[in-house]
Amino acid sequence: MAKGRRQASRIDRSTFRRAGFVVGLIGCVAVTVGLYEPGADFVVLALILAGAVALFSLLEMLQSGGDSPPELSSFGTAGPLLWVVAVWIFFRGFGQGVPQLILLPVGLIGWLAISFPLQALLVPILAVVGMETGLWGLGFQETAGLAGNLAAYTAAGVGLSIFMSSKAYRQRMRKALIRAKRDTASRQYARDLGLFSDMPGILNVLPDYDLIKDPEAGSQPAVESITAAFDLQLELIRQTLSLSTVALLWPDPEGFEYRLRSIATTRKDIAPGPFEVGVGITGALMGAEDLVSLAPATPSLGVPYYLKQVEVGGILAVRLCDDADEWLRFDDKKIAPIICVDRPGQESWTEAEKTTMTLAAKKLALDVTMSRQFQTMAHERSAIQRVCIAMRELNGALGLEQVLQSTIKAVRTLVGADFISISLACGNGHCVALAEGDGAEQLMGREFSREEGLVGQVLKINRALPAKAQCHGPTQVFGHDHLLVGYNSLLVLPLQKEKGEATGALTVAVREAEVFTKARQEILELIAAQVAVKIGLGHAHEEINRLATIDGLTGLINHRTFQHGFDMMLGREERRSGVLSLLLCDIDHFKKINDTHGHPFGDKVLKEVAAILRKAVRSVDLAARYGGEEFVLVLEGSGEQGGLQMAERIRQEIEKMVLRSEKGSVRITLSLGLSVYPDHGVDKERLISRADQALYRAKKQGRNRVVLWEKE
Ligand code: GH3
Ligand code: MG
Ligand code: MG
Repeated sequence: MAKGRRQASRIDRSTFRRAGFVVGLIGCVAVTVGLYEPGADFVVLALILAGAVALFSLLEMLQSGGDSPPELSSFGTAGPLLWVVAVWIFFRGFGQGVPQLILLPVGLIGWLAISFPLQALLVPILAVVGMETGLWGLGFQETAGLAGNLAAYTAAGVGLSIFMSSKAYRQRMRKALIRAKRDTASRQYARDLGLFSDMPGILNVLPDYDLIKDPEAGSQPAVESITAAFDLQLELIRQTLSLSTVALLWPDPEGFEYRLRSIATTRKDIAPGPFEVGVGITGALMGAEDLVSLAPATPSLGVPYYLKQVEVGGILAVRLCDDADEWLRFDDKKIAPIICVDRPGQESWTEAEKTTMTLAAKKLALDVTMSRQFQTMAHERSAIQRVCIAMRELNGALGLEQVLQSTIKAVRTLVGADFISISLACGNGHCVALAEGDGAEQLMGREFSREEGLVGQVLKINRALPAKAQCHGPTQVFGHDHLLVGYNSLLVLPLQKEKGEATGALTVAVREAEVFTKARQEILELIAAQVAVKIGLGHAHEEINRLATIDGLTGLINHRTFQHGFDMMLGREERRSGVLSLLLCDIDHFKKINDTHGHPFGDKVLKEVAAILRKAVRSVDLAARYGGEEFVLVLEGSGEQGGLQMAERIRQEIEKMVLRSEKGSVRITLSLGLSVYPDHGVDKERLISRADQALYRAKKQGRNRVVLWEKE
C-alpha cells in the first residue's frame, strides 16, 4: 500500500512539472502583452497569475532540492522557466524606476547559465528574448532599453559560462566536483545495493555516533569495488555472447525507477536514465518469470537505455535473485535488479545463452551479498573501535569528578542519548552526581530516598530497569517530585562491581523509541561495570589526595599544603595590592602537658586547639598545622589591625578553654607571633621568619600573648 502511495506521488511529480511548465508559459505571455506594466488593467488576474507562478517556482525549488540530477525531459525545464517568469513579473511590476533592479534578472541569467546545461536553458532563454522583444514590439520598452537589457543578459550568461569553462577555473573546480559527484553517486548506489541497511545485531546498535547521523558514511570503498566487479563481468558476458550491450539496471529503494548501474556496450547512444519502472522490458520481469527472451524484439518491450530504438534485434533480460528474496513488491509485482542484453541479430536465444545469463545473474547477486558482508564487517570494526575509545576515555580518568565526566562522554560515544545521569549511593538514599540533558541542572546534587523512583529500586535489586527499557509517558526515575518527561527509551543500570552492592546507577534516556536493544544493553552494562570499578578507584584517588594534603590528627591542612596555599595567597595580594597577616601560634609548655597527662591527652589538646583555629578563620583564610604543637594562620585582606584582633581573640578563646584529663581539669595558653604583608616583607620566607621572631619574643616576654613583629 505504501509503495502504491509512493508510486502515486511520482506520478504527481511529473503532472506537477507539466502544470508548472504551462503556468510558466502563460506567465511569459502575460508579461509580454504588458499585464505587469504599471497602470495596466486586469490587476486581479495579474495578481492571481503572479501568485501561481510564485507558488510553482517555490514548489519546484523545494522538489529539486534532492540529490537527483535535473531532469532534461520535455518538461524538465519547468524550473528555470518558472524562475525566469517570476523574476520578470517582479521586475516589470515593481522594478521600473529602480534601475539597480536590473541586477536581479542579470543575476538569475548568470546563475542559470552556470547551473544548467544549455539543453535545459533553451526554453527559458527563448522566453526571455520573447518577453523582452514582445515588450519592445508593443511599445512598453524603448529600443535602447531592449538593446541594453539583452546585452546585459548575454554578458552575464555568456561571460560567466566562459569564466566557468576557463582552464584555471575548471582545474580548480574539477577535483572538488569529481569528489562531490563520486560521493553522491556512491552513496546512492550503496543505498540501492543495501550496503548499509539491515545490519544485524551489534551493528544496528553500536556505531551510533557518526552513523546515526550519517549511516551512508564509509560506503564508498565497497561501492568502488563492486562497481569494478560489475563492469568486468558485464564486459565478459558481452564478449562471450557477442552482444551489443549488457546493462545492469538497479531499482531505487522506493521502486520508482531503474538506474543504470553498469554497462558494457559497443553503442554510443546510451541514455543515462533513470528509467521508469515497468516500462518496456522491465515490465515483463515484474511477474512470475525470472527470464524473458525476445527475438525478434518487439517495440513495446524494448530496452530503455538506448536513445534510438531501431537497430535492436534480440533482447534477453534476467532478474537477479536475492538470498532473502526481499525484492521490492508493488501490487504483487517484483521490482528486482535486472541484467538486460541485446544484439542486432534476430536469431533465437539458445538454451546455453539463457543458462549463461541465469548464471551471470546469480554471480552478480552473490557479489552484492558478499559486498554487504564486507560492509557489515567494516561496521563491526567501527563498533569495536568505538567501544575501545569509550574505554580508553574512562581508563584515563583519575579523580571521581573526572570519572563521572568521562562516563558521560563514553556513553555518548556509544549511544546518541538525550539524557544521561549518574547517581551515587549515599547513606540511605542516592544523589545525582552528574547529569546532562533537559532539566539536568535542577537535578545535579539532589538527594533522593532509596524508596523512591527507579534509581532507588535499581540500587536495591542490583538489576537494570525498566524491564523492556521503554517508558510510556512521564516516569519517576529519581523521586516522586521529579518526573522524566518526553523519552521513549529509558535504561537505569546499576553501577556494580562483579560482586557486591551497587554503588550507584547510570540513567540513559533517548527520545526515540526502542533504542535499547539487547546488544546495546549488554554494551552499556559492560560500561556500567567498568564505571563502578572506576568510581571505586576515583574515591580511593580522592582519599589519597586528601591524606596527602590534610594532617591526620587535627584535620587541618598540613605543612606542605600550607606552603603552596601561602604562595598562592601572596601572589593574589601582590596582583591586587592587598594585605595579609601571617600568624604563627605555639602552645605554651606543651611538653609539660604531655609529660603530665600523657601523649594521648596531648593529642586531644592539639585537636581542640585546631578546632578553635578552624572555627576562627573564614573560608578564604588558611589554617594549617605547621608542625608539632605549632599552627599557622594566613588571614586574607587583614593588615596589622585585623591580624592583631584575630590573634587576640584566638588567644582568649584558648585561655578560656577547660579540658578534662584523668588528673582533673587542664587549661592551656597559646603564644602568637604576627607579621604583615607587605609592611614586614613581601616574600614568603621573610614573612615566616618575622612571624617566628615575633613568636619567639612572645615566649620570651612570658608566653600567652600576641606579639607583632617590629625591628629591634
Ligand atoms: P614552649 O612554651 O617553649 O613552646 O614549650 P613547649 O614545651 O611547648 O615546647 P617544646 O618544643 O619544648 O615541646 C614541644 C612538644 O610537643 C614536644 C613534643 O613531644 C610535643 N609534640 C609534638 N608533636 C606532638 C603530637 O603530635 N602529639 C603530642 N601529644 N605531642 C607532640
Ligand atoms: Mg614548639
Ligand atoms: Mg610549645
